[in-house]
Amino acid sequence: MSKVMIIGAGGVGRVVAFKCAAHPEVFSEILLASRTKSKCDDIAAAIGSDRITTAAVDAENVPELVSLIKSFGPIMIINVALPYQDLTIMEACLETGVHYLDTANYEPKDEAKFEYSWQWAYHDRFKEKGLLAVLGCGFDPGVTSVYTKYAAKHHFDEIHYLDIVDANAGDHGKAFATNFNPEINIREVTQKGKYWENGKWVETEPHEISAMLNYPEIGPKKSYLIYHEELESLVKNFPTLKRARFWMTFGDEYLTHLRVIQNIGMASIEPVMYNGVEIVPLQFLKAVLPNPGDLGENYTGWTSIGCRIRGIKDGKEKTYYVWNNCSHEVAYKETGTQGVSYTTGVPATIGAMMMLTGEWKGEGVFNVEQFNPDPFMALLNTEGLPWKEAHDIDLEL
Ligand code: NDP
Repeated sequence: MSKVMIIGAGGVGRVVAFKCAAHPEVFSEILLASRTKSKCDDIAAAIGSDRITTAAVDAENVPELVSLIKSFGPIMIINVALPYQDLTIMEACLETGVHYLDTANYEPKDEAKFEYSWQWAYHDRFKEKGLLAVLGCGFDPGVTSVYTKYAAKHHFDEIHYLDIVDANAGDHGKAFATNFNPEINIREVTQKGKYWENGKWVETEPHEISAMLNYPEIGPKKSYLIYHEELESLVKNFPTLKRARFWMTFGDEYLTHLRVIQNIGMASIEPVMYNGVEIVPLQFLKAVLPNPGDLGENYTGWTSIGCRIRGIKDGKEKTYYVWNNCSHEVAYKETGTQGVSYTTGVPATIGAMMMLTGEWKGEGVFNVEQFNPDPFMALLNTEGLPWKEAHDIDLEL
């Protein structure tokens, strides 16, 4: 029985709050805190549990965070605000002696660049305090890294080729919308592509490499090679990997909108003056785009995310594919939000359960593939993200 504090009341925060509330045996009391308290109140009202309280907090302000943490007394924080707040929340955890979990690695606001170095640098300080910080526990990163660990543990002696494949075959009925925070999403998909091959990173132009891939129960979808953060920790933790890549599907309509947004300067993170006020074009764009958390009502179709792996078992080459398909409609019925928020919020909750039940232990800063994947994989099946696997099939890649 443990008190938990959730920071962030967007689509992902909503799912985490719903899922934590459904497990009183693990999460005895929940504080949902975010910049805008009314959003926390709406979620708490939708859940209707008397174990959830809410608060306003600026998660970039360490003293403010520290005082809220001290007044509530949680054992851990589930950070599902934005990547910009990761370091201040980690600082506040260190100051108050609280464990930490997040779903996205730190990004500085003024540079569209995400990497683990900033957060890995906290390892010794968390270790000295006897605290555990778990990084990247959404779906990708998160479940994809646990899948990789599970495959390496049970099905291979060595894994050599990893392709993470992420399809959103859903339809939200809007001309253009992003499935999670638009600012973070557009920063991620407009950057250069990058993959790991033969011991070094190979960079590509944005969307330069694509392939038509077949997704289970969905069919063929054009998939683009992009850089994704879990590749950085996976190549470090699985040194036998000769190649590691990440593929994501984008529709033609989405890419056309994205191109226009970039060409007219709306994806820029350089501040401009408008009517005497400094604004960041990409942040302004976020304000006029549909709120990802509100897309759920009319969202139909599936997401499909998995790992396609080739390696060696008992001296023979073998292939393995492990994946989850998630229905946007089913996610909406359960939590009032769409599949992308759901596939992120459920693993974050399971990760917190792993920490609070002692299945995942450690002192310092860790990525999810450094822990035992088995109890996590078992909970995916019962918490709404069941997985399937196939052996010795054509991986297409
Ligand atoms: P949203 O934009 O919907 O929600 C973010 C929330 O954080 C909002 O409630 C926002 O408050 C709050 N917030 C922003 N700044 C602050 C601040 N300074 N202090 C306190 N709260 C703040 O995002 P999502 O729910 O879609 O995504 C949440 C996180 O999940 C992101 O980090 C995203 O990158 C990550 N993610 C991870 C995935 C994975 O698979 N690993 C996949 C998808 C998302 P306000 O409402 O006032 O703006």
